[in-house]
Amino acid sequence: SIAMEKFIRRRNLQLRSQQETWQESPEGLKMLEFRRSLPAYKEKDSLIEAISQNQVVVISGETGCGKTTQLPQYILESEIDAARGATCSIICTQPRRISAMAVSERVAAERGEKMGESVGYKVRLEGIRGRDTRLLFCTTGILLRRLLVDRNLKGVTHVIVDEIHERGMNEDFLLIVLKDLLPRRPELRLILMSATMNAELFSSYFGGAPMMHIPGFTYPVRNHFLENVLESTGHRLTPYNQIDDYGQEKSWKMQKQFLRKRKSQIASSVEDALEAADFRDYSLRTRESLACWNPDSIGFNLIESVLLHICRKERPGAVLVFMTGWDDINSLKEKLQSHPFLGDPTQVLILPCHGSMASSEQRLIFDKPENGVRKIVLATNMAETSITINDVVFVVDCGKAKETSYDALNNTPCLLPTWISKASARQRRGRAGRVQPGECYHLYPRCVYEAFADYQLPELLRTPLQSLCLQIKSIRLGDISEFLSRALQSPEALSVQNAIDYLKVIGALDEKEDLTILGRHLAMLPVEPKLGKMLIFGAIFSCLDAILTVVAGLSVRDPFLTPFDKKDLADSAKSQFSCRDYSDHLTLIRAYEGWKDAERNHSGYEYCWKNFLSAQTLKAIDSLRKQFFFLLKDTGLVNESLTACNKWNCDENLVRAVICAGLFPGICSVVNKERSIALKTMEDGQVMLYSSSVNGREAKIPYPWLVFNEKVKVNSVFLRDSTAVSDSILLLFGGNICQGGLDGHLKMLGGYLEFFMKPDLACTYITLKKELEEIILN
Ligand code: ADP
Ligand code: MG
Repeated sequence: SIAMEKFIRRRNLQLRSQQETWQESPEGLKMLEFRRSLPAYKEKDSLIEAISQNQVVVISGETGCGKTTQLPQYILESEIDAARGATCSIICTQPRRISAMAVSERVAAERGEKMGESVGYKVRLEGIRGRDTRLLFCTTGILLRRLLVDRNLKGVTHVIVDEIHERGMNEDFLLIVLKDLLPRRPELRLILMSATMNAELFSSYFGGAPMMHIPGFTYPVRNHFLENVLESTGHRLTPYNQIDDYGQEKSWKMQKQFLRKRKSQIASSVEDALEAADFRDYSLRTRESLACWNPDSIGFNLIESVLLHICRKERPGAVLVFMTGWDDINSLKEKLQSHPFLGDPTQVLILPCHGSMASSEQRLIFDKPENGVRKIVLATNMAETSITINDVVFVVDCGKAKETSYDALNNTPCLLPTWISKASARQRRGRAGRVQPGECYHLYPRCVYEAFADYQLPELLRTPLQSLCLQIKSIRLGDISEFLSRALQSPEALSVQNAIDYLKVIGALDEKEDLTILGRHLAMLPVEPKLGKMLIFGAIFSCLDAILTVVAGLSVRDPFLTPFDKKDLADSAKSQFSCRDYSDHLTLIRAYEGWKDAERNHSGYEYCWKNFLSAQTLKAIDSLRKQFFFLLKDTGLVNESLTACNKWNCDENLVRAVICAGLFPGICSVVNKERSIALKTMEDGQVMLYSSSVNGREAKIPYPWLVFNEKVKVNSVFLRDSTAVSDSILLLFGGNICQGGLDGHLKMLGGYLEFFMKPDLACTYITLKKELEEIILN
């Protein structure tokens, strides 16, 4: 132990001299100067003092003031100065992978180090850290997973939870756990960081923890609402009566309904606000902005003309466009790139920015473009707070974000673009004033802005809670409902009950709400329970190669592209892969396998082009497949190599069965009628298929059931993807066969069969069950 102490002392000295050498080198000095110019620097001493005096501190400050990159470094530096550099362990959580990676890279660069020395990162399925890593940036999910095996966070000295104002589900969850942990670890320091000013909420949650504010500088940003935008871009308005596109009409109606719903949440009634603003006059303008969300619409034209206006008439400076999601970003990018001016790479550099991008692509976003080239970044609301692009002068805000909302009553998650909150709109606007006065183009009228909610609803209150409940159980946090009642804002009892019921149905929890063996395995896999179950069953039933593709596809996104002007061509290209086997998931496997073959012949891109597939998505699927495989290997569920792992030539019905095991209870009964197919689920009654699904274009489906991964509630309920399965597959694989015994399985399935009025199937099942029992007993 004396040797150990000696070693630590030497290491501490080493760390300090390393830091000094860097800060005295020319590049180090330059970096230090930059760091000292950030608003956080002035507060450095008082922040460090507050942290040493209090177990919990809440820090807020304008985005870009240096919270994320500086504060963890201040702590590290002060620990090094206090000769604790070799023993401290600082964890800083980020809500998103991309920010954990980008920030850690930046901090390592600021310290003149390579990644994995004193600074490292860890996100789902990847990370770089070394033996000497003292400051670790990770996603909130990673820290939660660590708590699974290490309840007291042994050895950790500081936990920094960043971006808490976003109120992500994981962050809210983590706060409950940490609140419990603090009395057990009195020397542990907890620092909460938030961009906007709702610090009081967090402070009072932690018994009045001190709040520190970093005063920031931002340049003024001029606001342009739709009415001004249209003027300045010379956009011609379509007279009201000339717009009779049904789709737009419909979405407009929905928007109006939505605004009505929000009415109760806002102080002055929307109707009044709209009327005061002479809404009838605006309605035709608002249509333009609402139409942003139909790729085929004038909305994209509007964005295009705003961008043209900026490029041609405005001063230099990067443009940041806020879109709703990856699909929109891609379609817009395609559209812009086909424009003679905007698509000219010597004039304009168009960069997408999205959470699932590769890190090499990310870096381009931060780089300055060549002289005379205008940088246009197309981003999701991720660029609101967690990523700062310094040279942005113009912001184009479409006013929406895709948020998952969760309707507990019919247990359906919906992912719809919804209006953002006032706080988000302000935040987006602020991104334009980083380096000089900026301009923000809101593509909606001022009266719509006035109708926005003040803040967004916390995620915990608007998403399904299955994974969360599983984690609560596996960290042994006690009763699920009781635990969740201690959150900053607790979810509805009904949502909690739905999640518990779901976990029972799939066999992850038993009757007493204890984890089953399956549940324990599922909790170890950082994927949704249904995908985890599919992987586990794929491994057990030796069809893992196929299942890996399905699971990777479901976690990335659909690689099939449907450009709006070539929809029919794209659809028929897709149906080539379906081979009339009535499954989107098997179709995906074929497309993927075809692409792998083409890649081997160096014709991957041609193949994608010909078949309307996204090479980028297929690559993402390919890499995720590998990662999932190693995950399974880690947990000991497989032991072969990936190439040897039950090649995709196994029984197609077995693959169907495993898909069914994972997706159950996402089932829907099929009744073929004269001219149509009637589909019904237990929760929603009548449902429809998207035309992009291979089953959506069939006149008949010769199977009694479809299993599906995702349903979306628009005006009626739509199934996005589906696989047809037979009675026997459903009987054997639907639900909870491995736990609760066969009786439990029958009871649960019996309920379903009864609902779908298939009592004869229940009889078959009883016979089958007897036979099975005999086999098992003998
Ligand atoms: P906050 O967390 O308060 O929003 P950050 O610590 O993320 O602020 O950023 C502080 C400053 O560091 C930013 O204003 C930006 O100028 C700079 N910065 C952050 N990340 C990078 C990066 N990857 N490349 C260059 N500069 C960066
Ligand atoms: Mg930050």
